[in-house]
This record gives sequence, C-alpha cells and structure tokens, in this order.
Amino acid sequence: HVKNSGKNSHCFYSADLSKNANELFMMENHLRRALERDQLEVYYQPQVRIKDGKIIGAESLLRWRHPELGMVSPAKFIPLAEETGLILQIGEWVLRESALQASRWAHAGYDLNRVSVNVSGVQIQRSNFADTVYGVLIETDCNPRLLELEITESTVMHNTEFVISVFNRIKNLGLKLAIDDFGTGYSSLSHLKRLPLDKLKIDQSFVRELPGNADDAAIANAIHAMANSLGFNVIAEGVETEAQAAFLLDMGCEIAQGYLYSRPVTATQFTALLEAERVKNKTE
Ligand code: C2E
Ligand code: MG
Ligand code: MG
Ligand code: MG
Repeated sequence: HVKNSGKNSHCFYSADLSKNANELFMMENHLRRALERDQLEVYYQPQVRIKDGKIIGAESLLRWRHPELGMVSPAKFIPLAEETGLILQIGEWVLRESALQASRWAHAGYDLNRVSVNVSGVQIQRSNFADTVYGVLIETDCNPRLLELEITESTVMHNTEFVISVFNRIKNLGLKLAIDDFGTGYSSLSHLKRLPLDKLKIDQSFVRELPGNADDAAIANAIHAMANSLGFNVIAEGVETEAQAAFLLDMGCEIAQGYLYSRPVTATQFTALLEAERVKNKTE
C-alpha cells in the first residue's frame, strides 16, 4: 500500500522514476483505480476563430483528480500510462467521453465543428486502434464528423506504412486527423504528404515568443506555408496574448487555441461558454 501523501509524492508519478518494477506496479494500480473510481475527467479547451473569437472546436484534455495530490497533470501520468499499457483503456475512455460530449453539444444545437481527442502513439502502434474507434462510434452513436484525432509527429514517423494504413481506415470512418506539436519532431516531408491529414497544430514553443522572436516567426510562417501547399489546415497552440494572435492572423493562420481565449474547462463550463456566445449572437 502506498502512503506517501507528503510533499514529494508528485515525484511518484514522473516517468523517470518508473524503472523499478515494483514501483511501476504500484503506480499502475493507482492509475487503474483512478479510472475505476471516476477520478479521471475530461476538460475541454476552446479552439477559436481569431478574427471574431468564435468557438469552432474543442480539444479534450485529460485530468486526474487525485484524492491526495489534487489535479495531476497529464504530462505526469500519460508517460506512465503508456509504459504500463494502461493508456489503451484510458485512451478508449477519453474517446468515448469525448464522443458522448460532442453528440450532446450537437444535439443542443451548438455548431462546434469538432471535438479533438489526443491519441497516444502506443494506441496506434500496439492495438487495433481503428477497430476501437469504430466500436466507440457505434456504442455512442456519435457522428464521426464531430471528431478529430490528434497524434504527435514522432508517432507518425515510426512504422510509417502501418500508421498510414491505420490513418486511412480512420479517415474512411469519417474522422479528421491532426498532427499535434508540429515542428518539434523531425518529420520526413515525403512521409507527411502520404498521410491522409487534415491539419497541423503549430507547437506552442514557436508561438510563445511571437511576434518578437524572428526565428520563431520564420518557423511559424514556414509551417503555415507548407501546410497550405500540402492542403492541410493550421491551428496555433498556446496563444496567450493579443499580439501573438494578431501576428498569426496577419500571417494567414486563422484558428488558435490558448489561455488568451480560455484555459481548459469542464464540460459544464464549456457549455456555458457556448451558451453565452449563442445569446450574444441572438442579441446582435
Ligand atoms: P497537447 O495535446 O499539446 O495539449 C496542449 C497543452 O497545452 C495542454 O496541457 C493545455 O492545457 C496547454 N495549453 C493550452 N493553452 C495554453 C497556453 O496558452 N499556454 C500554455 N502555457 N499552455 C497551454 P495539458 O492539458 O497539461 O496536457 C499536456 C499534454 O498531455 C497534451 O499536450 C497531450 O500531449 C497530453 N494529453 C492530455 N490529454 C490527453 C489524452 O487524453 N490522451 C493522451 N494520449 N494525451 C493527452
Ligand atoms: Mg493535443
Ligand atoms: Mg500540442
Ligand atoms: Mg504536447
């Protein structure tokens, strides 16, 4: 039994400590119980049209409400979940929650284009992921057009032929596909053009120092230009200031996500944001 609820206990969940098999086993149990005991929750962050601030989508972001540690960041427990294979169950749960929520918003008449769900490379590489997606769609009766999947760049450059076949199946089911944290991995452009993608997400590390940092400005511009010529949409992550948003819009990037618009919030809070927008549009 693990009873380290002291100040250091957050270290318990960091991936670099997870080499010891016994420790790994205990952490796995914690996380498994979290899933069973409803300690996991999906938050949603708005994706916004820069020119008028309209919410056009949402990204699902997982949260772990730990009884002793409070909110544990996914950056801390996703690596553990990947290492133990628990990500397969957790990832399926997030997808199901997100599909149900996307359907609720659609039935309530909010015209969100999509809910975007993070998918781990482990899910793609080590499971029949397209079958899982299909199962969740059937089970939740969710319109696949309401869902987008976000996969990081490094995932798609590993076992590329296999990934292409999985992506093609997912596209055939009707979902959209986005590459997350784009620019931080090392994509082969020849592989990239063979993937059935809809969107690249410009990583927040290139957005943080805009507009002042000339290198980041050049990188953001290059990603946008390349995405354009390959026929992909672009969204900028981590937008925190009006100056960043203005620069991105000027550059031709029309969609953004970040604290400038909203932090990730609960489904209930997100619904309130959508409702406030609907009321505002009616009175205009
Ligand atoms: P990500 O998918 O790149 O998500 C963006 C992260 O940036 C989120 O952190 C979000 O809260 C944060 N963020 C959003 N706007 C801003 C901003 O303006 N400034 C700053 N500084 N940060 C911002 P979060 O929620 O802690 O998630 C971290 C990472 O954990 C995600 O990065 C994603 O890779 C992973 N993750 C989250 N949920 C899931 C999930 O359900 N499945 C999987 N496989 N991974 C997930
Ligand atoms: Mg993401
Ligand atoms: Mg990202
Ligand atoms: Mg990330």
